[in-house]
Amino acid sequence: MTAPESRPPNQSHWPPAAASDHTCMNRRKFLKSTSVAALAAVTAPSVGAACMPIDSTPWIGLKGNSDEDFMKIAIELAKQDDPLIPFGAVIVDKRKMETVAVGVNETLVNPTDHGEIMAIDSLMKVAGVIEHVEAGLGKLRHMSLYTTGESCPMCMGAIIWCGFNEMIYGSSIPFIAATTGFSQINLRATAVAAAAPYGVQVRGGVLEAETNALFKAGL
Ligand SMILES: [Zn+2]
Repeated sequence: MTAPESRPPNQSHWPPAAASDHTCMNRRKFLKSTSVAALAAVTAPSVGAACMPIDSTPWIGLKGNSDEDFMKIAIELAKQDDPLIPFGAVIVDKRKMETVAVGVNETLVNPTDHGEIMAIDSLMKVAGVIEHVEAGLGKLRHMSLYTTGESCPMCMGAIIWCGFNEMIYGSSIPFIAATTGFSQINLRATAVAAAAPYGVQVRGGVLEAETNALFKAGL
């Protein structure tokens, strides 16, 4: 995976390593991604183990110049999570062209903890953001959300309530449903966006071959 062209000055390692306390990875991913030496130093997570949110710190402040740059970050993020649910979401401040919040699917804990929702929840902890939110709907127009999988109606609604300008995805809802068998609400993001109280752009198919491969690999 090629790194975005520019990185924060303090970003010496790309992609960021998985957080050591992230216990949501299933055992299969854990065994596949962890060296024998590392296995001796940690305790394998068990199904149903307490799930900690991913440590977003290494993923914040990453620079990019294009949709593809930020989708690459979402893809690498998704690879840190359970391969069965490779949804990575990245929120980008388009004024600075850098990441400000990330999230992965945590539905083992809460069925509404989709990657987008986790990223939005993380964003609200960023200094200065809440003032925009309190100023009313549509005040986060400088934010864009990138996700490996097309946002469901719940997440698209959350994106609209935040007032983001764009949602950019890789794999489509029909592809994910047909490939993985995941239950999906049969309503496309563009349909939700069309009902929004302001204009919100939706772009799909960004690095689609790579995001599709993620969902196929989890089977
Ligand atoms: Zn969703």
